[in-house]
Amino acid sequence: MDGDNGPRMRTFRFAPSPNGPLHLGHAYSALLNADLAASCGGRLLVRMEDIDQERCQPAYEAAILADLDRLGLAYERPVRRQSEHFDDYRAALARLESMGLVYPAFLTRAEIRARTTKLDWPRDPDGAPLYPSDDRALPRAEAVARMASGVPYALRLRMDEAISRTGTLHFEETGAGPDGESGHLTAEPERWGDVILARKDTPTSYHLSVVVDDALQGVTDVVRGSDLFEATSVHRLLQALLGLDAPRYHHHRLIRDAEGRKLSKSDGDTGLSALMAAGAGPDEIRHRVGLPTVQPTPST
Ligand code: GLU
Repeated sequence: MDGDNGPRMRTFRFAPSPNGPLHLGHAYSALLNADLAASCGGRLLVRMEDIDQERCQPAYEAAILADLDRLGLAYERPVRRQSEHFDDYRAALARLESMGLVYPAFLTRAEIRARTTKLDWPRDPDGAPLYPSDDRALPRAEAVARMASGVPYALRLRMDEAISRTGTLHFEETGAGPDGESGHLTAEPERWGDVILARKDTPTSYHLSVVVDDALQGVTDVVRGSDLFEATSVHRLLQALLGLDAPRYHHHRLIRDAEGRKLSKSDGDTGLSALMAAGAGPDEIRHRVGLPTVQPTPST
């Protein structure tokens, strides 16, 4: 861990979700993290983002680690598995609750759709309608009774109140967002509305656990695909609310198939295991994703 003196050791992480096999896009992300860590003498961590216990499977995790080993990735062990750390996320959620920033939300998907059909209803950067905040007005006793009744619910962030606590936030982008955004950027979490922090059966969400883990693991550099660029605004907000250090961000281009489509975990021909089983070694994989085949050496 970090000492009290001196600069923090640069720490990178590759954080796949074990809900399917890796493809070339994951290989690019993992190798880029490894190259950037190597070029500054930094650490490389791997984290299994397996909070969705229905979709994530140990067999996928084992296959992912085998692929990373075959790629020659030198990462630290043990690998952190998010499903083993729900208490850490519960603690962060409790802190946000104690700040009065969390409310239970009961609308089903169909109800959200029905409530947001107006053409000018605002949408988040992924194109989903912002959550109608109706349940914010539920009296506390009624909200508690409904939660206890067994119906499904999500715990959502009171976005406007959260932002009014932190004021305007910024983050450092050394790669580029989808529109080339880079440098000292302004976070725009309001574009996401009242994001989900946890669900009835899962005490966390992607946003909450990624922020908690990056801080707990001392991650200084988040290197990931540009499809997660917009989510960074939410991450920056949660870091500020929870008093956590913000890493530096580097969003990278996405690897696409011959037709220019984003790769998916079910595409057989860009599956990493299949390519390597067919004889592609680490250098060929590097070549296919446009990375130099000679690994950079530490620059002191
Ligand atoms: N687990 C996420 C994914 O597989 C990546 C999260 C991140 O790098 O922040 O897409």
